[in-house]
Amino acid sequence: MGKNLTKRSEDYSKWYNELVVRADLAENSAVRGCMVIKPYGFAIWEKMQAELDRMFKETGHQNAYFPLFVPKSLFEAEEKNAEGFAKECAVVTHYRLKNDPDKEGKLMVDPEAKLEEELVVRPTSEAIIWNTYKNWIQSYRDLPIKINQWANVVRWEMRTRLFLRTAEFLWQEGHTAHSTKQEALEETELMNNIYAEFAENFMAIPVVKGAKTENERFAGALETYCIEALMQDGKALQAGTSHFLGQNFAKAFDVKFATKEGGLENVWATSWGVSTRLMGALIMTHSDDNGLVLPPNLAPIQVVIVPIYRNEEQLSQISEVANQLVKDLRAVGVTVKFDDNDNQKPGWKFAQYELQGVPVRLALGPKDLEKGTVELARRDTLTKEFVNRDEVVEKVKNLMTEIQDSLFEKAREYRDEHITEVNTFEEFKKVLKEKGGFISAHWDGTSETENKIKDLTKATIRCIPFERKDEAGECVLTGKPSEGRVLFAKAY
Ligand code: AMP
Repeated sequence: MGKNLTKRSEDYSKWYNELVVRADLAENSAVRGCMVIKPYGFAIWEKMQAELDRMFKETGHQNAYFPLFVPKSLFEAEEKNAEGFAKECAVVTHYRLKNDPDKEGKLMVDPEAKLEEELVVRPTSEAIIWNTYKNWIQSYRDLPIKINQWANVVRWEMRTRLFLRTAEFLWQEGHTAHSTKQEALEETELMNNIYAEFAENFMAIPVVKGAKTENERFAGALETYCIEALMQDGKALQAGTSHFLGQNFAKAFDVKFATKEGGLENVWATSWGVSTRLMGALIMTHSDDNGLVLPPNLAPIQVVIVPIYRNEEQLSQISEVANQLVKDLRAVGVTVKFDDNDNQKPGWKFAQYELQGVPVRLALGPKDLEKGTVELARRDTLTKEFVNRDEVVEKVKNLMTEIQDSLFEKAREYRDEHITEVNTFEEFKKVLKEKGGFISAHWDGTSETENKIKDLTKATIRCIPFERKDEAGECVLTGKPSEGRVLFAKAY
């Protein structure tokens, strides 16, 4: 089975990278900063997609698809957005290689095939979409437009890590158009709430909802709302963002609508997205030194049945019971696999399914057949027990909810224990160094102070929580007046 994973306490980031590869979720590719998502990892992503897609449609959104390339003139139309992404975008300049290799046999870019206008590979799609919306929107009757796209985007990130930060990543991006500011703000909040609900109820990841400071805001947005999660090493992770774009894009692309009253006004916009980074959040929230731990909602296989046998006859007796169990479990909606592969020993299989985070493992041996029992092992608690065969289905079915809930509770406890209020900068630095997590502190509201704190400690303001005490105070760094506490943390 190869050697054990590096322990989290020894080297958290090494543990993470090893786990991603050994649990067969993803691997690095020949392309700098880009990963290959392997079938097991992709199956988990597909579960996330399916649930999010359902939630989007339930709230009145439709899917559509827009081009991968953005002509440079469109890209630069909304200045702030362009400025924000300029330093990390890939640009297509040519459309052809020369067909005759040079002396060394290498294909060259054909200098004659230079594009008249360069194409930016989308880092985000506001520009191309708002240029399209311009043709779709004339009057208030055309509004709202509520569209989502599942796509890949490219941001030329310098320091990349599997799932958490890659140069190309998969995501969904919602882009909505509204006739009033109020409606756009409500949409921004609604989608942030949907992300929070999804993270908590489906992924068992507790999150803090809040607003970003100006420093951390999406380029071109007037407000960025977010959900922030806390990883087991005490670092925060931005798990989703929802932007109120005001009329910035409507102005840049001249998107106006005739109002009911006969006026002409710019359209209000939002955009919102979550990415394959959520895979990283999932891994770093629940997994342990033995490997991946999956909440049942996200597990491609929820239950695995492993037969323990010495000869063909035993296997065939066990298979009979196991196949009935498979049927019965499927009938109550549990995803189950009977692993009767003869090429691997049970011990190897146990270790493999543990590494891959299968929530429940059932083992069946000759003794179990005699006694009418099944050995049941829980991945999250690593506990084992014998269960009567006629109680297994009910037990497993209930366990799916129990494990889901218990993973959430465990993560929430950890998170809550790692929100520390501090009132001096000395305390701030001490807590950050010794304990990590979110630091709840007063801040004077200026970017200057936020930057200074970042320079001194590497911690940034993760969000201004929507739910916070009504408590004025003094900034931890400058002592200037503060309207309320914000959450600082080192972040991924
Ligand atoms: P943004 O458009 O910057 O608000 O990002 C939308 C979502 O994608 C957020 O949840 C980000 O955390 C996530 N994200 C941003 N950059 C990357 C990246 N390089 N790799 C993976 N996810 C990312």
